[in-house]
Amino acid sequence: MSEIDYATANNPFAGRVICGACGSTFGRKVWNSTDERLRRVVWRCNKKYEVKGKKGCGNKHIDDKILYQAFINTFNVIIENKAYFMEKWKAESQSGNLLRRYKADEFIKMIADGEPIKEFDIDIYFKIIEKMIVFEGNKIIVTLLEGTEVEVVIE
Ligand SMILES: [Zn+2]
Repeated sequence: MSEIDYATANNPFAGRVICGACGSTFGRKVWNSTDERLRRVVWRCNKKYEVKGKKGCGNKHIDDKILYQAFINTFNVIIENKAYFMEKWKAESQSGNLLRRYKADEFIKMIADGEPIKEFDIDIYFKIIEKMIVFEGNKIIVTLLEGTEVEVVIE
């Protein structure tokens, strides 16, 4: 792979977007155009084009705007269900293993005074998102770093 596949501030999804059809990672592709307004960034399965003679993965690509929106929706779902999550994390910070306790405390601190967001927030993103599993139809299962999975469908 020639592409950098670790996440950075400029490329927050690298290595974190997983194909729901075959389980491999998605890679970033820039669709260029002479017209800058038509430039698009998409993510698609790295197994889309398999070795000769074998069929590649049939999962569709996804626009990076959808991934940004999936994060925003996920965060807002947590905020809307704050009472539920707080109770869960408080229980985990008492009884889970060391890592889960640590994560639960982190999430409690972050979400306690949280408000819904309208725009992507890179700091929160890196603190709460483990991975995003992409299925057809813009359905994404977002896994949080403390283990919760949130299903998001972007219209
Ligand atoms: Zn795939």
